[in-house]
Amino acid sequence: MSSPEFDLIRQFFTEQTVQRPDVLLGIGDDAAIVSPSATESMLVSADMLLSGVHFPEDTAAHAVGHKALAVNLSDMAAMGANPAWVTLSISLPENNSEWLSGFSQGFFALAEKFGVQLIGGDTTRGPLNISVQITGFAPPGQALLRSGAQPGEGVFLTGSLGDAGLGLRLYQHPNDAARSTEGLQLIQRLQYPQPRVAAGLALRGLASSAIDVSDGLAADLQHILTASAVGAEVDITRLPLSRAYRSLCGGRPWQQAVSAGDDYELCFTAPMAQEKDVLSRLAALGCPCVRIGEVSAQAGLHWRDAAGQLQIIRARGFDHFQENIT
Ligand code: ADP
Ligand code: MG
Repeated sequence: MSSPEFDLIRQFFTEQTVQRPDVLLGIGDDAAIVSPSATESMLVSADMLLSGVHFPEDTAAHAVGHKALAVNLSDMAAMGANPAWVTLSISLPENNSEWLSGFSQGFFALAEKFGVQLIGGDTTRGPLNISVQITGFAPPGQALLRSGAQPGEGVFLTGSLGDAGLGLRLYQHPNDAARSTEGLQLIQRLQYPQPRVAAGLALRGLASSAIDVSDGLAADLQHILTASAVGAEVDITRLPLSRAYRSLCGGRPWQQAVSAGDDYELCFTAPMAQEKDVLSRLAALGCPCVRIGEVSAQAGLHWRDAAGQLQIIRARGFDHFQENIT
């Protein structure tokens, strides 16, 4: 039987190139049927994106589709898991074909890149709200948890920090800087985060703990420290700041960078003896990574500047009730 709701689902959510052999029945029935690996552990996570909260309301549909999946893939990356299946529950204010077409193209382009299959979901009418659930796999005992950091280990960070946060500010206040090459690069980082899935997989057996930086390094590294009952000292001169970020951030570059969210880089710990191995494995994947500090036995997150002085920052992550991050 045809109905606008089913037509919409068929038109925008059933055509995908990824067809995994472990999906026995995909979209179309009351439930999907999957055949999980008999030898691996299954990891499940979900992330919701609200219009005006997790992305500016006028964000291009293609970017929203990308981001809805990217933030979920990033959780799999942070666990060292291989992503496999997703469900998509979406509430839409209207049946807008142009918007849906852009959204599904952004979503499926990224799904294809990671071999992830959309196996079901729900579609309702209401304020724009997107909820994705993701399932992935890792060998038993090999997933990367937040709780394994040990004193004396290194603290590492992939990519660069603060780009997406600055990109949001530029997007919200479009001026000449926002339209410059660097400004556009930063806005691209905000709208098209690239989940570090390959890096997460490469860190299995090397990293002792990991998290993805979604709410800002200060907040997210603190989650590792709390879960591991340790502290850390971060050398602020080692924080990786992109050229675009440096050229447009204005004052207080590192303070802004450690409290800005949405970068979806990986922060992890590993024994110092593994540092070379960590850096060369990630370099082989084209994933930049630096050691930014050291785990300490004493609780607390400390920031040390070039002069060796300890700096205090108000370690507040991205606040959902206050969009202004400066
Ligand atoms: P039911 O009413 O039995 O829950 P639905 O009408 O919600 O079924 O959905 C019909 C089929 O379409 C189901 O297989 C469901 O998983 C799938 N589906 C619905 N919405 C989406 C979506 N946004 N993305 C992917 N699959 C969807
Ligand atoms: Mg339903």
